Amino acid sequence: MVGAEIKERFLGKEKSRSYEEDILYEKCAVFGVYSPRHMAAPLVHMGLATLQHRGQDASGIASSNGRSFFTHTASGLVSSVFTDENIANLSGHIAIGHNRYATSGGSDGHFQPITTEKNLVSLAHNGNLPEVKKLQAFLKEKYISTRGLNDSEMMQRVIEYHMEQGLSVEDAIKNVYPLFTGAFSLVIMTKDKLIGLRDSHGVRPLSIGKMEDGGYALSSETFGLERIYATPLRDVQPGEMVVIDKDGLHEHQIEKDEEKLDIFEAIYFARPESYFFGRKVNTMRRNMGKQLALETQDLWGKADMIFAVPNSSIPAAAGYADQSGIRYEADALIKDAYAHRTFINSNHLTRAEAVRRKFSPMEEVIKGKRIIITDDSIVRGTTLKELVSLLKQAGAAEIHVVISSPPVKFPDFYGIATPQQEDLIASQMTVDQIKEFIGADSLHYLSYNGMIQAIGIPEDKLNTSCFTGKYSIGIGDNAKNINFAV
Ligand code: AMP
Repeated sequence: MVGAEIKERFLGKEKSRSYEEDILYEKCAVFGVYSPRHMAAPLVHMGLATLQHRGQDASGIASSNGRSFFTHTASGLVSSVFTDENIANLSGHIAIGHNRYATSGGSDGHFQPITTEKNLVSLAHNGNLPEVKKLQAFLKEKYISTRGLNDSEMMQRVIEYHMEQGLSVEDAIKNVYPLFTGAFSLVIMTKDKLIGLRDSHGVRPLSIGKMEDGGYALSSETFGLERIYATPLRDVQPGEMVVIDKDGLHEHQIEKDEEKLDIFEAIYFARPESYFFGRKVNTMRRNMGKQLALETQDLWGKADMIFAVPNSSIPAAAGYADQSGIRYEADALIKDAYAHRTFINSNHLTRAEAVRRKFSPMEEVIKGKRIIITDDSIVRGTTLKELVSLLKQAGAAEIHVVISSPPVKFPDFYGIATPQQEDLIASQMTVDQIKEFIGADSLHYLSYNGMIQAIGIPEDKLNTSCFTGKYSIGIGDNAKNINFAV
């Protein structure tokens, strides 16, 4: 039995939390273009649309024509933030862009790219700094107010400060790099340069592409590059700064450390079309499904069909079906492609209601059937709890849940809003208790080693903190609130 107290706490929170408070936001997207011949903003716009899955709170583009900056930012999806007219007003051959979800500083204002009226440097950030003590101390010492500034804004201010003192942007960045204590993939623009910069572990991705007109593009994911017909060249290396100007691409290795890409990029965040370490995300996810099938062979004789919680776990379900021979049903569970739009103005929708509005099980496919449903992860347990109940209503005879990653037990501090360990169901309950909580007939997680093998990237090149509690970048005082023994 799930301890009554634990269950009550999870359900109680569920009732009181609004959808907006509770939603797990996706990581931000950054994009940049330096084109010797074309206007950059329309390309950045296309890149941001391709990376919409990484952030839906707000979007923005800043551009430069060599003399002035132009900026447009607003709340909402890329498609609603930009019109043809305001893209046309973003003049110039250099532009950077950002899709945002709120990690620190709340969700109001704080749009990116960040530019001040000084018009020296504009910056867009993917990631999060779990501690900003060094940045705050530096700014305070220079009598620059930090009131109301979030981590990204402070990063912009310290670069700007050094440029005002007469340093080149390259030297300014090298100077302040030690103050950036956390995870960051940055695209930065001055009047005549585009810059890409990654933290020394490369926790968040950032890739470089070469455009047909001789220019360069920077994108959180390789597929963003392909969408603008840029050829992916390589990743910005951990601890590296690349500077693109009229003379081409210049490389500066500022720091060198062990590479630690966030494993959740492979599991959930990135688009299936993107590549990390030369491996396609779709292939990794299919392999995770195959491996999961191998680890749950007891289920093979017990199920009539398998399907996914769309969309991120479709490749895993397909891989599972391939390996086990169990029939994959593409239309058992339909996801409303426009569901998130309904939620933009709805402050009072609980996450449970949001799940119910997002998914519809097809009774004619499911009724009387023994089903396996796969998802890429369980975070709070809300999605599967609601889905299992919907599937029961649709008449499923048995419901077996398979998860293509191990239990998420530790909060993330590098760019995703899951900072409370007590909200992570696997840190509070055993697998058996979670099975009961969500109401499934059985529940199986992919093993840790199975996941690493399926992803195919060496374990020591991955940040696995959400599963292992091994944080690649120091999380400062936050560590005091974590139970590492779960
Ligand atoms: P939950 O309902 O809280 O258990 O969240 C798990 C569901 O959210 C799964 O369907 C995942 O695909 C998805 N998911 C996992 N991590 C995130 C994240 N950081 N942001 C948004 N969705 C996520």
